[in-house]
Amino acid sequence: MTNRYRAWISTYLSRVGDPLQQCEAATLEMQQAFPKLRRVRGTVRMLAAPDGDTSAWPHWWLVDQDEHIVDPTASQFPGPLDYFEMDEDDPIVGRCHNCGEYFTRSQACQGCCSRACATEYGSYLNSFRHTRE
Ligand SMILES: [Zn+2]
Repeated sequence: MTNRYRAWISTYLSRVGDPLQQCEAATLEMQQAFPKLRRVRGTVRMLAAPDGDTSAWPHWWLVDQDEHIVDPTASQFPGPLDYFEMDEDDPIVGRCHNCGEYFTRSQACQGCCSRACATEYGSYLNSFRHTRE
């Protein structure tokens, strides 16, 4: 990351304080300052989350012309991150009832991220129904 980007991010963070859930606004603002940066929507996973939770979280970031990640709100996530760029034609539409992962439109299956999760969640609901009868 170039020093110009680093300086912008540091000024931004001292202005907003906590960057938690500011990724969408921060990337819009930073892209206005640096129009050559491309805005990317997707998910990130914390590879060394303090609580061991490696779920994917919806996130916005920027990339430079060499596809290097420039993430103005990366400091909301501790440790190294795994970025996954979403296909704009196949956006995230929900969170799986069974496993809690976010899923895209093409993955969606009865409110779950996959057929396997939908089946598992269906049996869970059915078992619950039977125990009450
Ligand atoms: Zn699932």
